[in-house]
Amino acid sequence: MNMKRKVKILKIDELTHDVKRFIVEKPENYKFTHGQATYVSINKPTWKYEERPFTFTCLDSESHLEFIIKKYPRHRGVTEKLHTLSVGDELIIRNVFGAIKYKGNRKRHLYQRRARRNV
Ligand SMILES: Cc1cc2nc3c(=O)[nH]c(=O)nc-3n(C[C@H](O)[C@H](O)[C@H](O)COP(=O)(O)OP(=O)(O)OC[C@H]3O[C@@H](n4cnc5c(N)ncnc54)[C@H](O)[C@@H]3O)c2cc1C
Repeated sequence: MNMKRKVKILKIDELTHDVKRFIVEKPENYKFTHGQATYVSINKPTWKYEERPFTFTCLDSESHLEFIIKKYPRHRGVTEKLHTLSVGDELIIRNVFGAIKYKGNRKRHLYQRRARRNV
């Protein structure tokens, strides 16, 4: 079942002219792994049914959720509206999805192992 959870925006940072970081509440027992995403909508009339996928940019061990979102004003869609929101506004998030999982820096481990062998 795809559960909908309302989460408040706690902090917004403007990273560039068209990219913002959104720190939002993390619902209890909400779990994800690196690289996974969820469908997000804005909890406002007409917008709450407009779901778009965004990837978590924080760790599951943190007490909040974080999304870094680029806006596309020409689309006149969710990302443009997201960039007009303020702290205290609410988003709706859904189940996590995504098969891409972070497996660590495998190349670095390979280099380290080779380097140790050559010492
Ligand atoms: C798994 C996944 C994870 C993602 N994670 C992130 C993330 O972490 N951060 C992030 O920033 N993005 C991420 N994205 C991309 C993000 O989902 C899109 O940028 C977002 O859906 C765009 O939503 P929108 O409503 O602004 O525009 P859209 O839904 O793309 O477009 C809205 C409408 O605008 C019109 N339109 C489309 N293209 C154009 C165009 N070129 N010019 C004019 N009009 C147009 C269409 O009519 C469309 O219906 C991810 C995407 C996927 C699939």
